[in-house]
Amino acid sequence: MSRFELSLFENSKGFFQESIRHAVAAEADPHAWKYAITFIVQAIELALKEHLRRAHPLLVFADVDNPKATVTLRKALDRVGHAKLVTLTEKEATAILKANEWRNAVTHYEVSEEVANLQFVYASLLGFYLDYTFDKLDFDTRAVLDDSLLTKLLAIEHYRQELVDRAEARIAADKIDTGLVWICPSCDAGAFVIQDDINTCYVCGFREKVLQCERCNESFFESETHRLDVEWDFGAERYERVCGNCKEELRQEHWGYDDD
Ligand SMILES: [Zn+2]
Ligand SMILES: [Zn+2]
Repeated sequence: MSRFELSLFENSKGFFQESIRHAVAAEADPHAWKYAITFIVQAIELALKEHLRRAHPLLVFADVDNPKATVTLRKALDRVGHAKLVTLTEKEATAILKANEWRNAVTHYEVSEEVANLQFVYASLLGFYLDYTFDKLDFDTRAVLDDSLLTKLLAIEHYRQELVDRAEARIAADKIDTGLVWICPSCDAGAFVIQDDINTCYVCGFREKVLQCERCNESFFESETHRLDVEWDFGAERYERVCGNCKEELRQEHWGYDDD
């Protein structure tokens, strides 16, 4: 007999991914909002429960003395707040409660809301979910989204701006030297942090190694460097990792070097 089991967090990530898919689709078809909102609220509720469960397994139950029904979203929010597990901003708390109302409305009766309002609240929920799972559940949820979905999401100005704002706040909070923040080659945001070998974009999660050119000592993305075979006078061979400029200079000085 097979059993279907899904942990709270796995379940949460699944709803998040489906929500994003529908939010992207909602740009062309407003009917998709119903699923985008319902699924992201579900994802947040499950993430809050996972957070509570990690603090103590009984905390996911509405009544800890009678552990049957699990907490509602509102109760989960209160509980993570009381346990000082997380502090929500006013904007986040409002967005979550608003979306929860919408979820209940779309599930039980009808909902009529301006698309601009939906987008505004959705942007907040999206940003909250990504930050929350990263900070409190030690997981970068961007990793579960496939590249094309993330690209489509970041092409929607409203959502892009939310993620850029949050990335800037995180860069400041982490005390990152702005000289050590590059333009991300994947999403073009100025949010690729190279300090302390973080080598990650704070907007889209893109990662790439950063290496130092052995000639000029400047830093480059690994994909911008070249490996050269260098033959020494006494016949021994070794490799050098160099940047494009240094490679050209070397080629002009000594023809015959091979690169990979
Ligand atoms: Zn990026
Ligand atoms: Zn160089």
